[in-house]
Amino acid sequence: MKKISEKSIFFGSYSFFLSMAAVIAAVAVIVSSPVVRMTKEETAYLADSEAQVSAPYPKIIIDAGHGGEDGGAKAADGTLEKDINLNIAKYVYTLLNALGCDCVMTRDSDVMLSDGEARSRKLRDLKNRVAFTDGGDCVFISIHQNKFPQKSCSGTQVYYSKNDTRSEKLAAVIRENTQAYLQKNNTRQIKRAGSEIFVLDRCTVPAVLVECGFLSNPAELELLKTEEYQKKLGCTIALSVVDFIADGSNKN
Ligand SMILES: [Zn+2]
Repeated sequence: MKKISEKSIFFGSYSFFLSMAAVIAAVAVIVSSPVVRMTKEETAYLADSEAQVSAPYPKIIIDAGHGGEDGGAKAADGTLEKDINLNIAKYVYTLLNALGCDCVMTRDSDVMLSDGEARSRKLRDLKNRVAFTDGGDCVFISIHQNKFPQKSCSGTQVYYSKNDTRSEKLAAVIRENTQAYLQKNNTRQIKRAGSEIFVLDRCTVPAVLVECGFLSNPAELELLKTEEYQKKLGCTIALSVVDFIADGSNKN
């Protein structure tokens, strides 16, 4: 089965390399147009794609890692991981929302997801993120940035939860699209997360954590700080979710 994003009349050949605004405008025009002239092929495509992505669609939980007093990793120039995470997460949300997906962000501002006693605050924050998946029928995507003592390390790394076999498929789609459209030389393979990644250890729905890039790599840090690259990462993740759902991979 072809991926929806490859044959979609909406996105053509991954038009997400246009600006996010252009993609959203294109979707808006198509959706709101009273008369959409379609060729036979396009009509057949729509009928086909409706079958592929038959409802009910899963809810998409978009988790911007860290927040508030928890800045996450810190770059040499003081850039905090939590801020880049939130920007990318917002792009993922905006695009999926424009495409009609039911999605929610665990945080949409610079906050921690818990208060109270400092000793257990971080653990409660993580538990509250996982709690968004209560009730099932959803997909959990956590967005983070990496840091390593060796400055040469670079590239997106995707981890998946061991608790649901569909997690590995979702991670593979994100990795494949990232390599194809953003990082041709990225040879990092997807990794099964252990107990060290709390949210993936506890989620029982399809769940992945995307370490988008390394704040410790000076060249990658400069890229990660730009709006353009953040949008590209956000679009790649969002359209990977579309691929995942369109393939029927989200179904048990
Ligand atoms: Zn992190």
